Amino acid sequence: MRVLIISDIHSNLAALEAVLQDALKAGGYEAVWCLGDLVGYGPNPNECIELISTLPNLNCLMGNHDKAALDPSSLVVFNNDARAALTWTTSVLLPPAHSFLQTLAEITHAGQFTLVHGSPRQPIWEYVLDRSIAREVFPVLETPYCLVGHTHVPVVYQSYNAEPECQVIAADYAQPFPLHKAGGRFILNPGSVGQPRDNDADAAYALLDTDTEIWQFRRTAYDIALTQNRMRAVGLSPRLIARLPFGW
Ligand code: ZN
Repeated sequence: MRVLIISDIHSNLAALEAVLQDALKAGGYEAVWCLGDLVGYGPNPNECIELISTLPNLNCLMGNHDKAALDPSSLVVFNNDARAALTWTTSVLLPPAHSFLQTLAEITHAGQFTLVHGSPRQPIWEYVLDRSIAREVFPVLETPYCLVGHTHVPVVYQSYNAEPECQVIAADYAQPFPLHKAGGRFILNPGSVGQPRDNDADAAYALLDTDTEIWQFRRTAYDIALTQNRMRAVGLSPRLIARLPFGW
């Protein structure tokens, strides 16, 4: 099965639409695994949720921004810009979008894959930011592969079963990554559709063939100015608007 892997869309409809088009050009997909943070930061929460909810064989997880949009008591942990964007999101979220967010799971398993926004230890909140955190997460894994989002940085961590150590593998957009051939266990992050934070402004995502166990990182340009104009029109923070072209 060919699976489109998306995460951290953050209400950026232009980026989401570009990713869906690019994935079709790359051969299409039969299922979609979305690793959470559909909303927050961006200008189109309702439109993004509506579009995602129509995607085929969808397996969609809850992110920290989705959780905060449903439960304002968790807003205290966010910085000022993120909190203001979430407060705005909550004020415009339509009942169908609100109901959809309420259906999202915190952690799921799909065959060999664990799907989660943050980490298997703390599904909503923990960032798998570096090798030392990944090393602690591997022993908790119940499947060979774990897909995470949350950091907005595409990356692979690989661990061999007998070893507590793990290695970091940078995203390679030119080469498919055959998981079964590489061996061991993996934590894989596709990066962020709507707010990349690896100094590359293009929307990030991945395609996964679950039969051949081949993972492919992908990037696609989108109309950043369109998203920025939409953000200005609804009064979102200038800092959030300014960061998009920097991929940060
Ligand atoms: Zn996020």
